[in-house]
Amino acid sequence: MPMAQLFTMHGAQDALARTFGYPRFRPAQEDALSALACGQDVLAIMPTGAGKSLCYQVPALTLPGLVLVVSPLVSLMKDQVEALSAAGVAAGYLNSTLTPSQQDIVLERARAGAYDLLYVTPERLQDARFEAFAANAPLPLIAVDEAHCVSQWGQDFRPSYLGIADFIGALPARPVVAALTATATPRVQADITELLGLEDAHVTLSGFDRPNLSFSVTRLPTKEKLARIVEHARTHPQDSGIIYCSTRKDTEAVHEALLTAGMAATRYHAGLSRAERAENQRAFITDDAPVMVATNAFGMGIDKSNVRYVIHHNMPGCLEAYYQEAGRAGRDGEPAECILLWNDADISTCRFFIEQDAGNERLDEAEKEAVRAAQRRMLEAMVGYCHTADCLRAHILRYFGEDAPDECGNCSNCLGEGQKTDVTFQARAIMRCVHELRGRFGKGVIASVLRGSGTKRIAELGLDSCRTFGALSGESEALIKAVTELLAAQEFLTITEGSYPKVELGPRMREAAEDGFQLFMKPLTPKRARKARAATPVPTDYDTELFERLRALRKRLADEAAVPPYVVFADSALRAMCIQRPADEAAFLEIPGVGEVKLQRYGQAFLKEINP
Ligand code: ADP
Ligand code: ZN
Repeated sequence: MPMAQLFTMHGAQDALARTFGYPRFRPAQEDALSALACGQDVLAIMPTGAGKSLCYQVPALTLPGLVLVVSPLVSLMKDQVEALSAAGVAAGYLNSTLTPSQQDIVLERARAGAYDLLYVTPERLQDARFEAFAANAPLPLIAVDEAHCVSQWGQDFRPSYLGIADFIGALPARPVVAALTATATPRVQADITELLGLEDAHVTLSGFDRPNLSFSVTRLPTKEKLARIVEHARTHPQDSGIIYCSTRKDTEAVHEALLTAGMAATRYHAGLSRAERAENQRAFITDDAPVMVATNAFGMGIDKSNVRYVIHHNMPGCLEAYYQEAGRAGRDGEPAECILLWNDADISTCRFFIEQDAGNERLDEAEKEAVRAAQRRMLEAMVGYCHTADCLRAHILRYFGEDAPDECGNCSNCLGEGQKTDVTFQARAIMRCVHELRGRFGKGVIASVLRGSGTKRIAELGLDSCRTFGALSGESEALIKAVTELLAAQEFLTITEGSYPKVELGPRMREAAEDGFQLFMKPLTPKRARKARAATPVPTDYDTELFERLRALRKRLADEAAVPPYVVFADSALRAMCIQRPADEAAFLEIPGVGEVKLQRYGQAFLKEINP
């Protein structure tokens, strides 16, 4: 299908350098932009921090007309518009935080062509006034951010996303559509393509690895979690961090403990007033309170780039959510830690939430059950992450369908912390049992057969005559189930979706039958608490005293302009200034993150500080 050229990559490159101060696109950005440049729809699947926003911000600078960005994240709109304004880009947003007369002004300005970019919520697209505006506006490109919200299979389904395709269909000329998400499962991908009505879309899949993040998993009794968190915050007093808790009550307790320990911490959960949430978020973003304790209500759309650690006080319900939340650490590319604390109570809580199924009124009973089944599967993969003794990074990447080396050298398992149990023997027995049962049963039946359980059900099914009956008679049901989950997480087995998930042989089944096959997991009950991890070494090959002065200058300029410090410059830009020590404007422009507008605004102040 021949398509019109929308913009050139040369122009895009130019906009990247002049406005954002970056020398080159990342490979995934280049891939997505090349397709958009030719007028092709794009489905971009890129992890948090990979640079999705430039995929529509750069076209907005090179295209005539207005780029519309649909996003459910009201707080992100304000942050992005602020950051864009700091870089000299004309952008606006329309959402319910504006008064009706403010909204009128934004629409008026948009009509007059004052913006290159306009952020809107999906609900806005159904508003008659907005539809009338859109019908007459030149809209060459629509970007749908957080595109997985259209899918009932993801963790953040938003019914309003189902109206986006109709909105696009009703426009006089169909714009090019870019759908962006950090959620990669094939099911969600298919939903996005279909429900957003993407046409012959180019799929950009960027690597999910975040090499600067280190991962660790620690099984810890609930009453020890608090002390561990306080200790971490205390030993990293200069660092900004987020602590996620599964309930408001835990959030309050952790927050309280940090305050008692003298830390500048703040909190965020749905039980606080709107005003307090906004104020606490502001305090966190501006580093007035660098430690945030929050439920998962916090973080969507926060792109604070200098978060140095994310600690989970509880295990989340799926790896998608975990990786998204943990991924809020280290967006500036500098080393950062992702620490998961968990115990069996967390698993029970997750199960409870799944069976309770809040929301989703649009679904009928069968659909609800299908959603629950999918959530149960996702939970199993999360539990597998907690149990595995193999590389944590590899576990995550393989879950998202990516190849990964067996060891990363930057996670608690690769670094050899904690004990391992050899479960090769048990794993082989499970593989044989699944083979013998021909994938017809779930984990519970498999465990019963292997334990040689004499229950009525097993006898009724005639399974007491299996060859593997009683092959693991001394083992607990919990251990057999955990090893089954681990085998599934590593694709030796597959656990089906549906109301009664069945265990089948997986794509890597043959490897499990080979001589060299070995499987390790963490002991189900830890023998003793380990001592805390050593702090990550902070890079010291630059002038840290100058760095602190630049940081203070950044904070002053940011406060004057009423924007967060990272909107002025990222930590990585300050560090580059300390290393390169630019002496004049031309050298200052060489710093990654310095574009023409930032040079003009801040160049002199920073040059003076660097060269007193
Ligand atoms: P996402 O929306 O995918 O989570 P962002 O768009 O917020 O990610 O980008 C993450 C960080 O990476 C930001 O600090 C951004 O400035 C930086 N970044 C994006 N593209 C580039 C690039 N081509 N070169 C250098 N840094 C980049
Ligand atoms: Zn590893």
